[in-house]
Amino acid sequence: MSFLEVNNICLDYSVKEGQTHALDDVSFSVGEGESVAIIGPSGCGKSSLLKIIQGLVPATSGTVTLKGETVDRPARDIALILQDFGLLPWRTCAKNVGIALQIRGYARDERRERVEKMLELVELSDMARAYPSQLSGGMKQRLAIARALAVDTKLLLMDEPLSALDALLRERMQERLLALWQSQGYAQIIVTHSIEEAVFLGQRIIVFSPRPGHIVDIIENPLCASAGFRSTEAFFSQVEYLRELLREDADDPASEVRHA
Ligand code: ADP
Repeated sequence: MSFLEVNNICLDYSVKEGQTHALDDVSFSVGEGESVAIIGPSGCGKSSLLKIIQGLVPATSGTVTLKGETVDRPARDIALILQDFGLLPWRTCAKNVGIALQIRGYARDERRERVEKMLELVELSDMARAYPSQLSGGMKQRLAIARALAVDTKLLLMDEPLSALDALLRERMQERLLALWQSQGYAQIIVTHSIEEAVFLGQRIIVFSPRPGHIVDIIENPLCASAGFRSTEAFFSQVEYLRELLREDADDPASEVRHA
């Protein structure tokens, strides 16, 4: 039994015109402490899949289990960080982290201690009294991670976490995300539409097809997180392989027809 198991997930949304078949028979697993990237074109159901894994949206069929237990409501051990980060604009950074602890019933002293530790971990101690509107995109991302980790999240789900950042900052943030994951031991699933990001951050890369989303391939990426990986031959050849795979699938006229 794996830490997280996603078994035969299908999802249909009811819309005015009938049904949108968003996900088609999606199955994979994630090990404890593993980092997995999901890549695929826009609209292939990646965000919906994260919401199903977190227990926010019910699947039409299929199951998700975490440590053997079915996830059928928002799960305690799983944090989902959406593209807008879900920060409370009227609360300071420290209070944004503290609220998660307060909801879980942590005592005041422990809350203060944990908030300090988490802000230090994501290098935002100086911003404890600032409000989210005073933070850059990268800082907001780190604050959302601090809030998730404060309550001992075991699985972090991130929906295109770095898509709003410019290229240089994006690389720096990828390195921070990698370092945080390496030091803290949680598992993570990162949805991205950047090939380089998937290869840099995913020990395994799950490739999705266009609508309805289904898995085309799962690529092992064992050198992920090794020193200097980004400038190695292995990195470039993984990027090239993925690029070809995504191009082939987008070009394949049958890919639309097959699942219509
Ligand atoms: P991605 O994250 O890969 O861009 P989404 O999960 O957002 O994909 O969407 C997958 C498909 O489901 C899209 O066709 C989208 O329009 C549709 N969809 C997403 N959310 C809803 C919803 N709440 N109601 C109806 N259709 C939806």
